[in-house]
Amino acid sequence: MKDYYDILGVPRNATKDDIKKAYRKLAHKYHPDKNSGDDKRFKEISEAYEILYDDKKRVEYDTYGRNFNGSAGGPGFDGFGGFDFGGFGARQNGQGFEFDFGDIFENFFGGQAGRKTKTKRGADIAVDLDIPFVDSIFGTERKILLSKVSYCQSCKGSGAEPGSELEKCPACQGAGRVHESRKSIFGAISTFRECGKCQGRGAIPSKKCSACSGHGVLKRSEEVTVKVPAGIRDGEAISLPQMGEAVPGGIAGDLYVRFNVIKHPVFRRDGLNLTMDLDIKISEALLGIEKEIATLEGPIKLKIPSGVDSGEILRLRGKGVPQAHGAPGARGRGDLMIRLIVRTPKKVSKKAKELIDELKQEGL
Ligand SMILES: [Zn+2]
Ligand SMILES: [Zn+2]
Repeated sequence: MKDYYDILGVPRNATKDDIKKAYRKLAHKYHPDKNSGDDKRFKEISEAYEILYDDKKRVEYDTYGRNFNGSAGGPGFDGFGGFDFGGFGARQNGQGFEFDFGDIFENFFGGQAGRKTKTKRGADIAVDLDIPFVDSIFGTERKILLSKVSYCQSCKGSGAEPGSELEKCPACQGAGRVHESRKSIFGAISTFRECGKCQGRGAIPSKKCSACSGHGVLKRSEEVTVKVPAGIRDGEAISLPQMGEAVPGGIAGDLYVRFNVIKHPVFRRDGLNLTMDLDIKISEALLGIEKEIATLEGPIKLKIPSGVDSGEILRLRGKGVPQAHGAPGARGRGDLMIRLIVRTPKKVSKKAKELIDELKQEGL
């Protein structure tokens, strides 16, 4: 499986600047015109850069990255469910770029060169959410308040007063769009634009919904419940389809939530394992001891065998990070790795000194 972060050799939380630097360095090295050139590597690097340098594509990749298979434009991309990669609406089709002329016209003329096949889609919303370390391990639910354009609950987005009828739009005869001829640098261009009266629906309510004045949408605050998946990593994101901005006569955009995991004072994450340091006394290292230690799931008893070295690591199986959104059947948990640190006292009493002298004579 290809990992774009690995390809560029940057961490998952790399800044755009880091990504650009890494790309420049590698592109310079592997450019096919160079002696050290490598066409395949160069393509990979360019592809990784193209995705990671674009905020929207990066969130998309972070969200679906683990199931990413094949090269860009393969089934992995199709799995994005018609995600529009912005810009001129360029869609990768495996053989290069296929431009969507409707979108180009939109960009050129700043208007809505409506195509009948395209469903209108509201804007995506991206939010960052700080979550405590322990919640990133076991998962949780969080509520966030979003101020956004939503579908009117009273008329379910139709704009018609409940119980009233819809009528054919007189402005577009029910087509949802109107024909328009415009002058441009290419000469006269014939385009269609969305009908302003019915906002592309083709129908208007005989009586406007009183809650939304017939718009079908209204701006309001909405509480959204976000399920934080167990085992989520810092910088990873999830998408909530159609929880973004609503648009009259179309479908709502998506909501992307990116998680910032707050560092834990004791535990660190290393893949599916958790690591921690544990201070022990010299006598405990020599003789062994059973110690109660705090874990993310409450205290447990840890048996430290006799004769351990400072830096030695004890492994508690299955006390690490649950494998969350992997393939079905791949459920399991990582381990808790406890690194023992033998603490040498800075001060010893007279009596202790005598005893240590005796130990010395024992050859310890
Ligand atoms: Zn309404
Ligand atoms: Zn109309």
